[in-house]
Amino acid sequence: MHRPDTLDEAVELLSTVDNPMVYGGGTAIQILIKQGILFADNFVDLAGIPGLREITPGAGVLTVGPMVSVRRMETDQRVRAHAPLAAEAYHQVANPRVRNTASAGGNIAHGDYRLDPPTALLVLDATVLASSVRGTREIPVREFFVDFQETAIEHDELVSGIRIPAQPPGAGRFVKNSSLGENDWPCASASVLVTGSTMHIGLGAVAPTPRYVACDATGLDDQGAVDAALAAIEPELDPIPDVRGGVAYKRRLARATVEDAVRAAWKDLQHA
Ligand SMILES: Cc1cc2nc3c(=O)[nH]c(=O)nc-3n(C[C@H](O)[C@H](O)[C@H](O)COP(=O)(O)OP(=O)(O)OC[C@H]3O[C@@H](n4cnc5c(N)ncnc54)[C@H](O)[C@@H]3O)c2cc1C
Repeated sequence: MHRPDTLDEAVELLSTVDNPMVYGGGTAIQILIKQGILFADNFVDLAGIPGLREITPGAGVLTVGPMVSVRRMETDQRVRAHAPLAAEAYHQVANPRVRNTASAGGNIAHGDYRLDPPTALLVLDATVLASSVRGTREIPVREFFVDFQETAIEHDELVSGIRIPAQPPGAGRFVKNSSLGENDWPCASASVLVTGSTMHIGLGAVAPTPRYVACDATGLDDQGAVDAALAAIEPELDPIPDVRGGVAYKRRLARATVEDAVRAAWKDLQHA
């Protein structure tokens, strides 16, 4: 295990040592090692690098350090005021034990199609900062999830931040449905953000990658909005059958999850 003191040292290690792997909170890594799925010669632990646990406000944007815990994303007052939809999605990750240890950077870098927070980051149009010895680039979350368990992060890059724009006026709702138990991975999750005349929808667990769609919501009542949302998500639904459900069940649950999120958002709009 390498324990660099600076970000420069960390990215230098990623470009020089054999078969490196960034170590965030370790919640996913530890399980994959125990399952005999994961082998890495050189873990690069980010825990000792000062500054990576900072949440930094900027002009309409919060920059979240990669080692900020999922628990803090759920509870930090600045996150809750700036992007309540994101705070709610982080709040619904697993259980308090996992949330205390898992990091925001590790969560998104993990690239799992079932992750909850990316659904909110997609609709909020957040970006990921990716650093390497070549410098830092900014990747829209909408371009981050490339394929099953594959992200836009290169092998010698690490997630050095997540930039979250302020949640715009309107209504935002996150809904998660699990089939094996309350704290389990979702079988379907959805973030819906209605702002101006546009409805943004982020989907988790219903396809090999988190998905984003948007549709026009001009003049729609709640039923019209549900119909528009269901039509918009239909081409994106490509669930992977597993112990949590088959394809038909997951498609049905995806539709029900989106419908619940849309109806809740519309109710909020009416009471705003
Ligand atoms: C029991 C259990 C239940 C769960 N349920 C849910 C759930 O309901 N919803 C949900 O969203 N998630 C769920 N998770 C997943 C959880 O969110 C992830 O395990 C966690 O977010 C990963 O964060 P970590 O910091 O522990 O990452 P790690 O385990 O340290 O790393 C995970 C992956 O990300 C890479 N990585 C870590 N940090 C960085 C970085 N800064 N830059 C580049 N790569 C990096 C690692 O190399 C590794 O490939 C669950 C996990 C467990 C163990």
